[in-house]
Amino acid sequence: MTTMRMYDLIYTKKLGGALSPEQIAFWVRGATDGSIPDEQSASLLMAICWRGMSTEETLALTLAMRDSGKRLDLSSIPGLKVDKHSTGGVGDKTTLILGPIVAACGVPCPMFSGRGLGHTGGTVDKFAAIPGLRVELSEAEFLRSLRETRFANSAQTADIAPADKKLYALRDVTATVESIPLITASIMSKKLAGGADALALDVKCGPAAFMKTLDEARALAQSMVDVGTAHGMQVRALITRMDAPLGWAIGNALEIMESVEILRGERDASDLAQMSFRLAAEMLIMGDAATTLEEAQAKVQASLRDGSALETLRRFTALNGGDARALDDFSRLPQPGQVVDIRADQDGHIAAIDGRALGLLAMDLGAGRRDRSDVLDLGVGLRVLARVGQKVAKGDLLFQVCAKAGQAIMPDLYQSTLQWTTIPIAPAPWLMASLGC
Ligand code: URA
Repeated sequence: MTTMRMYDLIYTKKLGGALSPEQIAFWVRGATDGSIPDEQSASLLMAICWRGMSTEETLALTLAMRDSGKRLDLSSIPGLKVDKHSTGGVGDKTTLILGPIVAACGVPCPMFSGRGLGHTGGTVDKFAAIPGLRVELSEAEFLRSLRETRFANSAQTADIAPADKKLYALRDVTATVESIPLITASIMSKKLAGGADALALDVKCGPAAFMKTLDEARALAQSMVDVGTAHGMQVRALITRMDAPLGWAIGNALEIMESVEILRGERDASDLAQMSFRLAAEMLIMGDAATTLEEAQAKVQASLRDGSALETLRRFTALNGGDARALDDFSRLPQPGQVVDIRADQDGHIAAIDGRALGLLAMDLGAGRRDRSDVLDLGVGLRVLARVGQKVAKGDLLFQVCAKAGQAIMPDLYQSTLQWTTIPIAPAPWLMASLGC
């Protein structure tokens, strides 16, 4: 038997060849336990970025990463368990909305979420804005939450797919994040380890997302659907537009407020609400709570009307140490030190809003992290009142900047995130495509 050498794997991939499942498992094991040096893993990552991977290689990488750590056993929870993943957007708080809805409709919803980095926020940080809520649940707490409320959300624990943590950190510093097989394996290894039976994917597409074009987003969605279904997981994917921010809130406490408003049945025509309802409906179908989209959508609406979705969020919050009163009395949520209004400096119609730039501005306010070690201010962020297609008169309110006390705010930076037109325009639909639905 010849010994495997990392050099040969790099060389094979550099020339565009395929790696065997054994070679991939050798690399993932060695990268995780430190026996393969970072420079060799970094070289292979770059070769994969340029040369790609076949479906078989992507599957092997996903499984090797899943098997680098613990797998959660959810078999003690009755029924089909349905998870959801979004590839990351600005103002994306769909998990906070659809998790309680799906759970209230009878389908257990186990979710592990991430912390935000750069212009996109993380669900864990949003939940952390609810005073007292524990966002790092132990396995026993996670299972208890799922059993008692049918909803559980926790930060990813270090023992789930540790290979991803190691490889993602290397990708982050070697410009190798944007690769369909690497993103697929990173996301799906964690989802498969999380133990759910089904997964709804929200693949974001546009200038504020990883995937800039519909072709790229479709390829990523297809790759994740293929890997999931090859392992007995039902997967449905929506490809959704990510240019303007999703909803009016960017920032952690603000996003809790907007999610609660939607769970109360307010602002139900917004893109954010419609997207959350549709993803929830797909999850109900996969969880065997409905057979058609119409039936699923009717159940979603019933859970808002009868208050059971919001009540599920209250119960989840209270069970996990949070102050559920903050969901009804927003003054109990973290507050900004000052609020600065930004008003229109011209008449016209809003043609586009640069979500990425607003995400970065919110990050600079303290709502997001430039670096993993940054500490967030959960009360700061942006209220984005401008909407694409809106007719605006000079002096109308466009943004409210919720900032730390004393922080200097430069209105021009906010004004420059808007594109204007003199003629009315209709906003593009949020849903761009679907797979497996
Ligand atoms: N999110 C992940 O978890 N992994 C990636 O590679 C990209 C986005």
